[in-house]
Amino acid sequence: MVSTIKNDDLLMGRMMFQPLMISSIIEHAKNHHGSTEIVSQRTEGDLHRYTYRDCELRSRKMAQALNRLQLKTSDRIATLAWNGYRHLELYYGISGNGMVCHTINPRLFEDQITYIIHHADDQVIFFDITFLPLVEKLYPHCSHVKHWICMVDKNKMPESSVLPIVCYEDLIDKEDGNFEWPIFDENAASALCYTSGTTGNPKGALYSHRSTILHTYASALPDSLNISAMDTVMPVVPMFHVNAWGTPYSCMMAGAKIVFPGAKLDGASLYKLMESEQVSMSAGVPTIWAGLLQYVMGNHLKFSSFKRTVIGGSACPPAMMETFANLGVKVIHAWGMTELSPLGTLASLKVNDLKKNQADQKLILQKQGRSLFGIDMKIIGDTGQTLTNDGKAFGNLMVKGSWVISDYFYSDQSPLIDGWFPTGDVATIDAEGCMQITDRTKDVIKSGGEWISSIEIENVASGHPDILICACISTPHPKWDERPILVVVKKPEVTKKNEEIKADLLTFLTGKIAKWWMPDDVLFIEEMPLTATGKLLKVKLREMLKDYSLKS
Ligand code: AMP
Repeated sequence: MVSTIKNDDLLMGRMMFQPLMISSIIEHAKNHHGSTEIVSQRTEGDLHRYTYRDCELRSRKMAQALNRLQLKTSDRIATLAWNGYRHLELYYGISGNGMVCHTINPRLFEDQITYIIHHADDQVIFFDITFLPLVEKLYPHCSHVKHWICMVDKNKMPESSVLPIVCYEDLIDKEDGNFEWPIFDENAASALCYTSGTTGNPKGALYSHRSTILHTYASALPDSLNISAMDTVMPVVPMFHVNAWGTPYSCMMAGAKIVFPGAKLDGASLYKLMESEQVSMSAGVPTIWAGLLQYVMGNHLKFSSFKRTVIGGSACPPAMMETFANLGVKVIHAWGMTELSPLGTLASLKVNDLKKNQADQKLILQKQGRSLFGIDMKIIGDTGQTLTNDGKAFGNLMVKGSWVISDYFYSDQSPLIDGWFPTGDVATIDAEGCMQITDRTKDVIKSGGEWISSIEIENVASGHPDILICACISTPHPKWDERPILVVVKKPEVTKKNEEIKADLLTFLTGKIAKWWMPDDVLFIEEMPLTATGKLLKVKLREMLKDYSLKS
C-alpha cells in the first residue's frame, strides 16, 4: 500500500502554477526559435518551406477559423493527412483552442474508419487531396460531419460530385491572427488516436495536455530521442499514428528543424530529401527503413548528415541495426504503444556497460530498452504474481505512468489491473531494468510447456540475405502442443528454389537460436499480411495457413 500525507500536514511550496498547455510549446517555438525552418514535401508536388513563426501565426488563424465555424470546446476535429505543415498547424490550432485533434489512420479499413468517425463524433474532417477518393466513400456514411476541408492550395482544389468541400487556405485567409491561446485545465483532452487492433473495433486513446507535455519533456531527454536545436529531424513515422511518436511536439520544444516527407515514403524519395535538407535524425518503423536501406545499399550511396534514427513499432532486426551502423547511423531501439502516447522504453548503454565487449553492448542495444522516467513497468505471471527482473523470466508486461491511458474513450470498462495497464506484450526485464519483448500475448508459442520467442527467431532469420520479411507462428503438434514454423517472403531478386533457401535458412539459424526453437518448417508466401501500421498481421497469417499441418 502506498502511504499518503494530508495537505494540512504539509508545508506547500511557493511556486507558480502554470497549467501544462500544448499551445505553450508553439508559443515557445515562436519566441525562441522563430526563424527555425519547417520543410514539407507537399501533395501538390513541390517542397514547401516556412518558419516556426509562420507556423504559429497560421495555427492561431486556424484556431480562429474553427471558432468561426462555430465549433465548440472539446469537439473532435479529425485529420486524414500525411506528415506536413498543414497537419502541424492543425495539431496546434485544434488542441491549443481546447478542441480535440483526432488523427485518423487512412490505412485502416473503410468500415473501421467510418466506425471511429462515429465513435469519436467527429465534427469536421480535414483531409489531404490524396484521400479524396476515400473521403467520397466515407461521406454517405457520416452525415453528422459538418465540414469536409481539403488541405490543398486554392488553385489545386479538386471538384467532387459527391460532397461539398471547403479549401483549407480559404478558411485561414479569412482570419487576421488576432487570437490569444486560451488557458484551461491541463487535464483536458488534446488529441485522440485509435488503436489499430487486429481483433474487434479500434479503441480510442484520449491524450490530455498534461500527459502530452510530460511525454514531450521525457521523450526529448538524452537517453530518449535526444532532440536539440542543432538537429534536423525528419519524422517518417506518420502523424496519423500516435502523434508521430510525439515528434511534432518534441521538435518544437527543442527548436529542431523539421522535415516532413509527406506521402513520398519510398527509399529514393526519402534519401533525396534527407540529403537535400541535411537530416540528422529520424524516427520510423522497420518496414520503412528496409525500403530506404535497400535503395541506399543497392545504389552504393552514403549518408552525409544522417546520424541517428529511432526504430520502433515492431522489433528492429539486428541486421538492420548493423547495416545502419556500417553507414554511420546509430539506431535507437524504442518500444511503445498507442496507449502510452507512445514512448515507454528506449535502449541505451550505461557507464558500466562500457566495460563490456562490443558484442555484449550490441545485445543491450538490440533490446527494447529501459523505461523513461515517468513510466513504471513490471512483468507478471499467469496468476498475477510479479516475476523477477533477471532477464530470463518471461511475463506479461504491465505499465503505469502519467502518459498511460486510464480508460479507453467512451468505454466504461477500465483496462487496468490493480492500477497497471496490461500491454498485451510478453517480455523479460533484466536487473539493469532493460526490457526485451519476446512476443504479443496472443502470438506466444508454447512448446512442451516452454515459451519460444517468435520475435527472437524472426530477428535472426531476417538477417538471412535472401529474406525480405518473415514471421514465426505456432502450429499445433500432437506431442509438443505447439511448434514454431517460419513464413517467409523472399527478396524479389532471389532466383534460388524455395527448398534450397529453406535448407540454407535452417543452417543459418543453427547455433544462433536454441536447438528446440528451430522452426519445424519454412513456408514461402508472396506477400506478408501487415496491419495498418506496418506490423506483422499474424491473425491473418494463421487464418491463411489454417489447413496447414506439420508432416510428422
Ligand atoms: P501500436 O499501439 O499500434 O503502436 O502497437 C503497439 C505494439 O507494437 C506494442 O504493444 C508491441 O507489441 C509492438 N511494438 C512496439 N514497439 C516494439 C518494439 N520495439 N519491439 C517489438 N514490438 C514492438
